[in-house]
Formats: sequence, structure tokens, C-alpha cells
Amino acid sequence: MKYTYIMVQVAKLYKIFVEGDNRYYVGATIGNINTCLRSHRSESKRKTSKVSNWMREMGVYRVKIVTIEEFTYESKRDVTVKENEYIMQHLNNPNCLNMNRRHLTTEERREAKKKYYVDNREKILAREKKYRSDNRERIKNYQKERIMCNVCNCFVKRYYLSRHRESKKHLLAHESTNR
Ligand SMILES: [Zn+2]
Repeated sequence: MKYTYIMVQVAKLYKIFVEGDNRYYVGATIGNINTCLRSHRSESKRKTSKVSNWMREMGVYRVKIVTIEEFTYESKRDVTVKENEYIMQHLNNPNCLNMNRRHLTTEERREAKKKYYVDNREKILAREKKYRSDNRERIKNYQKERIMCNVCNCFVKRYYLSRHRESKKHLLAHESTNR
């Protein structure tokens, strides 16, 4: 019998708060939430973000952390996506101290773009097809425009340009100018 092992990784959505104060901060962590709180505390010593200012104002040791939800994830990107969704739910709350969504790293952004294309392939293709049919005349006229080949000094229709560049006439002219 074969077994497949799946590593189930658990991340947490958390909330940072002070008893008796309505303000709070939300985020996600793949680590231990107490470690997470410790890093928020040490960050608050050097940062001037809303949450750091608030933590210093309250006294960092009065600040507590609580897990709001646990969720499983496969990649760190999943965590960022979930964290951003969670932050977005709170951003309009005047007591929320988050200033923005978490920024995606270049790698995460690249992955997100790829995923968007895969998830929306049909939609994107349909949009491109619609654009082509809505602009058929314009595209046709554009393709029919004559442009000058700067090697042969002759005018060639745009749609014919790539074929022209491989024509004997063009290649000979190209050779003679390089001689
Ligand atoms: Zn040419």
C-alpha cells in the first residue's frame, strides 16, 4: 500500500488589541502568534506607522494578540492573499490601525499575475477577440498602411513587412549596405 504524505501547514489571522481601547491591528502569520507579537513590539521601537505609534502610546506590554482564524495553506502567496482579504475587510473601520494591504514581493506579484491569467484565460481571450472584432476596420487599415523600409528605401504595407524583410530584394539591399 502506498501512502501519500501531504504536509498541512497552518497559518493564523490575528488581531492585536489593548483591553479598554477600540483600536486594533490585523494580520496573518505562519509562525507562533506570541513570536509575532514580540516582533511587533520590537518594530514599534523604531517605526512610525500608526500601529507602532499606538503601541508606544499604550505601552507595548499592554498590547495583546489573539488568533481570529486558522487556515491551511500551500504557498506563502496563499497566506498573503488571505491576509490581504482580511485587512481589506477592516481598512474602512476608523479603529483599524492597518494603513494598507501588505505589499506583495516581486515573486508573489509574478505568481499572482500568472494565476490571474490561468484563472481568467477564457475571459481574457474573449476580451481580445471582442477588441479585434470591434476594431476590425481600424486594425485592417493599420495593417494596410504603407511604411518605409529604411534598408531598401521602398514603401511596404505593414502586414507585409516581416515577409519583406526576408525577401531577396531586401536581403540584397541589406548586404550591400553592410559591405
Ligand atoms: Zn527592405
